[in-house]
Amino acid sequence: MSYAKVLCVGLVGVAGHLVEVEADLAAGLPAVVISGLPDTALHEARDRVRAAVVNSGQRWPNRRITLNLLPATLPKFGSAFDLAIAAALLGGSGELPLLPLDRVVVLGELGLDGTVRPVRGVLPMVAAAARAGIERVIVPAGNAAEAAVIPGVRVRAVDTLHRLVTFVRDGAPLIEPPAGESPPIGDGPDLADVAGQELGRRALEVAAAGGHHLALLGPPGAGKTMLAERLPSILPELDDEAALEVTALHSIAGLLPPGGRLLRRPPFQAPHHTATVPSLVGGGSGLARPGAVSLAHRGVLFLDEAPEFGKGALEALRQPLEHGRVQLARTRGGTEYPALTQLVLAANPCPCAKPAGDAYCECSPLARRRYLGRLSGPLLDRIDVQVRLPAVRAAELLAGAGDRESSAVVAGRVAAARAAGAERWAGLGHQLNAQVPGPHLRRPPWRLPAPDTAELRARLDSGSLSARGFDRVLRLAWTIADLDGRSRPARDDVLEAIQLRTGDAT
Ligand SMILES: [Zn+2]
Repeated sequence: MSYAKVLCVGLVGVAGHLVEVEADLAAGLPAVVISGLPDTALHEARDRVRAAVVNSGQRWPNRRITLNLLPATLPKFGSAFDLAIAAALLGGSGELPLLPLDRVVVLGELGLDGTVRPVRGVLPMVAAAARAGIERVIVPAGNAAEAAVIPGVRVRAVDTLHRLVTFVRDGAPLIEPPAGESPPIGDGPDLADVAGQELGRRALEVAAAGGHHLALLGPPGAGKTMLAERLPSILPELDDEAALEVTALHSIAGLLPPGGRLLRRPPFQAPHHTATVPSLVGGGSGLARPGAVSLAHRGVLFLDEAPEFGKGALEALRQPLEHGRVQLARTRGGTEYPALTQLVLAANPCPCAKPAGDAYCECSPLARRRYLGRLSGPLLDRIDVQVRLPAVRAAELLAGAGDRESSAVVAGRVAAARAAGAERWAGLGHQLNAQVPGPHLRRPPWRLPAPDTAELRARLDSGSLSARGFDRVLRLAWTIADLDGRSRPARDDVLEAIQLRTGDAT
């Protein structure tokens, strides 16, 4: 026999597609030709596979070897094809009877010594195999736990090419994935830990309930980071589909925690202000790594000290935040990752970061305006909730934790408010108040009675609020009403919304 084929999976974005690796061995000068739109990693695969085969004690066929990866039109990235290539090659040369690998997806990168190394993206690859009706997969031992998360697929693992060979040839056992789920990770930070900050807590709750982006302005020690870190704890848990998508993105980034479980809590990403553009939006050679904005998909992206981020970095986030996905230019076709995230910005009021009114702050009003001005335009424009937080007073810090609401209590209100919003906008195809276009809010049946919006219209007329800001206040007013269980915002909701939008007490 001089022909064999083995199944594996290629990823395009988070979507996996079955790939057939064909090997054909013919008489002629010894050579290896790979076709089927390979990237550079696949050319390197040729050398890795050769070394691994020889170092595993197998004979390298000195014939003309043609490897073909189908479908040819599918771009193929990364090194997960190595093991399937080696198996197909040994099958084609007659060294291995490949019947045991029939309808089995084989994934893994080979080391030169014949070890099988973990690869990124195994979870979405196995999910794709399951969707294609495949019932058995063989994965690197280091990926067995995450592969086993996908129901309906029998997962076995290998640590070396030799183990795969002895399994196929002699029926020797493969490695079983670790049994059961790892113990639950400890609960994340809780709102009950936050002292004082009534305004900050309120802003966080409103942002969570309506899906609004949030900016927290205030001096060091105002608890901006503490608040931001607790936003995921009051957001609804991810449903099955979202959890699979989020876990897939973390798998592709190679950042899944050990243990093998779906990520159910909305993720929280806090890139440092020195972060590069690729680390924020994604990139890199081979299988593109999702950036922070995609790792925060269906969760929270927190930019602390936001004015310190480079102009290019802030600009690069604009498109993903607007479209809910990132497009990465690749040499062969683009890659797209989802990036529906809730943004939280934090900023000090001035570049020296000393508390407001501090005798040592010598920043001029102009310097302060310029500092926050770095955020205007691309980002600040998209943020519904902007609040100025005062420094926490000692009396608040010392108040007992017993009377503070926990995340679970707030999460209950948030879930009820989200349900009300989703029901109201279902006909328009929106789920969250933050997603509803302004024109819808300004015309019947959603237009609010004129007396209730008097203050808002006065601010628009005086120029202290932009037309865009006008719509943002309306969205917030709906969220505030939803949180209170009312079917329509009242005048007081509009006034609170103005306060949450502009940071002004009215
Ligand atoms: Zn200053």
